[in-house]
Amino acid sequence: VTVGRTWASPPATAPGGLVAALREVVGAAHVLVDPELTATYETDWTRRFTGRAHCVVRPASTPEVAAVLRACAAHAATVVTQGGNTGLVGGGVPAGGEVLLSTTRIADLGDVDRVAAQVTVGAGVPLVALQTHLRAYGLDVGVDLPARDSATVGGLVATNAGGERVLRYGSMRAQVVGMEAVLADGSVLSRLAGLPKDNTGYDLVGLLAGSEGTLGVITRVRLRLVPLLAARSVALLALDGIAAALAALAALKERLPTLDAAELFLAEGLDLVRSHTGLPAPVPGAHPAYLLVECADRSDPSERLLAALGELSGAMPGISDAVVAEDQASRHKLWRYREAHTESISAVGVPVKLDVGVPLAAFAAVASSVGPAVEGAAPGARTIVFGHLNEGNLHVNVLGAQGREDAVTDAVLRLVTAHGGSISAEHGVGRAKVAWLPLSRSEPELAAMRAIKRSLDPTGLLNPGVLIS
Ligand SMILES: Cc1cc2nc3c(=O)[nH]c(=O)nc-3n(C[C@H](O)[C@H](O)[C@H](O)COP(=O)(O)OP(=O)(O)OC[C@H]3O[C@@H](n4cnc5c(N)ncnc54)[C@H](O)[C@@H]3O)c2cc1C
Repeated sequence: VTVGRTWASPPATAPGGLVAALREVVGAAHVLVDPELTATYETDWTRRFTGRAHCVVRPASTPEVAAVLRACAAHAATVVTQGGNTGLVGGGVPAGGEVLLSTTRIADLGDVDRVAAQVTVGAGVPLVALQTHLRAYGLDVGVDLPARDSATVGGLVATNAGGERVLRYGSMRAQVVGMEAVLADGSVLSRLAGLPKDNTGYDLVGLLAGSEGTLGVITRVRLRLVPLLAARSVALLALDGIAAALAALAALKERLPTLDAAELFLAEGLDLVRSHTGLPAPVPGAHPAYLLVECADRSDPSERLLAALGELSGAMPGISDAVVAEDQASRHKLWRYREAHTESISAVGVPVKLDVGVPLAAFAAVASSVGPAVEGAAPGARTIVFGHLNEGNLHVNVLGAQGREDAVTDAVLRLVTAHGGSISAEHGVGRAKVAWLPLSRSEPELAAMRAIKRSLDPTGLLNPGVLIS
């Protein structure tokens, strides 16, 4: 995003004087009202959620964020916080009329504390910039995902993002050891010491992680770091179905302590990726399911991975073929088959995207029932599923369901929760799933969540309509 021209006059809907007040805080260049400049902030990555912002404001520091929130409160305006705008549930774009607070200028990269293996960074730092910063120290972040070029640290924490390494390091909340955030009244909550032991009451940092911008604006984050494991080896297994993929994963977990990722995709998804990217088939022939696994270590894990695959190929009938990539270019190529799914689906149309968590014991049953459930709700729609297999995290993407989005969502989420699953594994609730939250949360839980929201944001300033109705 470049800083561009600003228009002298605010849009007609502006509560009087707010734009002028915000310009006082951040400077005229960082309050955008020209629709040409605000447009990229107003539509989400999926193109499904869009709304006009009153204006876009780009503070560069915690005190500026606090002053912005106070100005918005004084003008009875509401605020939507946005990081990299890669969220997939519509939580970071306006519904209409809110001030959009972009964190991308809060991008300081702190010194790395090598003894503690921690770093403090601005919320607007893109994940890839943090990864590059840490590489020089032989360190890394425990979370990685395909949106790394744009997704910000603040956004990752606000959504408690998961991604490809949860198997080894857990989700984003597990990486957070400290945080600075501005609450709705402009007060600053600052806990950046990163103490591994600190039993002094409620875990407010943990509460803001995963709160999707509804409880405060995260401005700085202190993260625990993991060793940079540069020696990597990737295998792609072609399988006769999801049950075989689960059996192969269980066997590989037993044999490979260096296992870093276990990703699943199916024949339909591979076809779409190949027609979008022009990639050749990864192995000869067509197969119902594919499991991509990656091992990472300080020394080359290829030998152990090959040995484990050798043991499996004799013992497990569901494995039809396997290919192993040891050098970086071939590893990247194998990962493309999995990581290009989201963009390849979006290239065909605007999908209904559902990201669900399923107990592994029910995973194969749910994965095979999703297609028929969608067909019942939107006849003729096309369903593509893939996901992070170890966590039972299934990404259900439905193309060609225009006008039937809610029916599709309802059918899939009811199927999932009937099997003990969650309506959101990692993308969050956003605006997309608010109506279905009671499927995953009991009435006492919802009441507690509403009470927390009311006490930290009594006027409903932050992200109205997101997460909690
Ligand atoms: C190609 C692709 C692949 C993806 N893969 C994964 C994946 O594997 N795993 C996964 O979990 N997600 C994935 N995502 C979703 C997305 O990348 C994550 O949700 C990410 O955490 C969003 O970060 P962001 O900076 O883009 O946040 P945004 O999209 O800008 O915002 C997301 C939410 O967080 C809030 N927010 C953002 N910044 C702050 C802040 N500083 N303070 C308070 N609230 C804030 C917003 O209000 C909004 O509710 C993927 C997305 C794409 C496009």
